[in-house]
Amino acid sequence: MGEFDLIRRYFQRPAASGVEVGVGDDCAVLVPTPGARWLISSDMLVEGRHFLSTVDPARLGHKALAVNLSDLAACGATPRGFTLALALPRVDEAWLAGFARGLWALADASGIPLIGGDTTQGPLNICITVFGEAPPGQVLLRSGARLGDEIWVSGRLGDARLALEVFRGTVALDGAGFDIVRAAMEYPTPRLALGQALRGIATAAIDISDGLLGDLGHILAASGVGAQLDIDALPRSSVLASQPMALQQECLLAGGDDYELVFTAPPGVALPDVGVPLTRIGVIEAEPGLRVVDAQGLDVEHGLRSFDHFAS
Ligand code: ADP
Ligand code: MG
Repeated sequence: MGEFDLIRRYFQRPAASGVEVGVGDDCAVLVPTPGARWLISSDMLVEGRHFLSTVDPARLGHKALAVNLSDLAACGATPRGFTLALALPRVDEAWLAGFARGLWALADASGIPLIGGDTTQGPLNICITVFGEAPPGQVLLRSGARLGDEIWVSGRLGDARLALEVFRGTVALDGAGFDIVRAAMEYPTPRLALGQALRGIATAAIDISDGLLGDLGHILAASGVGAQLDIDALPRSSVLASQPMALQQECLLAGGDDYELVFTAPPGVALPDVGVPLTRIGVIEAEPGLRVVDAQGLDVEHGLRSFDHFAS
């Protein structure tokens, strides 16, 4: 199978609404919503770095798009289209069929058409760029947190990191527990509906890809504020809650790969109910830095930091 047959077979579909030209020409042509702002983000997934070579290809197709949609969600954007740049070591039709199935399932569920890309031979590498829209002045940014705002998080934290530790062999779980945390790692849910519902409500937002400490830290730095974070309030699965406290703290604070939204909002404001649990985990303070405390308000020593590809 040649390059163009491959694209036609797995990645080309009739043009969707709002897409004047999709896959098949030199550029895609999108019709912008009058007055809206474009929001654009790219995320690359490298074998051995972001996923294990043994991962189910359908889950990989899902996750490659999910991590990108999570960035649109964090900014409150409505998805409009995405491109897929793919390097493949060889044409493996079973792998491609699985990958495309997982990718299309999430694309369809999220209402985002595939509008183009690039396909080349090389070490397995997946780069997606997502295009979204939001009304001007309603884009959720990292920079809007204000003194006294409450800090909220969606869903549960830490399961993806716990699964990684099982793969690394440092933690053992029973089959049912492993299935739960493995799904969190391999099959994250981008919080698109929540992000859009938080337009005009949240003062700042970010998605957790590298760990709560670092990602919340980005909000604090961009907003020029500090925060107190209640570690006992952090939402966790019963699987994680049954692990030793030090491991729980590491997974919750520094785990990463959660793809939940952390956002700030003024106290008392009505938060949207989109069927995703929201948990209040802290408060914005004037003093810079992030202070982790327990339910009694006592300082918690953790010595943890978020993931950084180039940190030594
Ligand atoms: P060009 O050489 O003009 O860059 P290509 O030959 O690389 O175009 O691609 C042909 C068409 O197929 C283009 O419309 C491109 O956007 C699309 N395309 C290539 N690879 C993919 C892919 N993996 N997924 C979706 N569309 C793709
Ligand atoms: Mg090309």
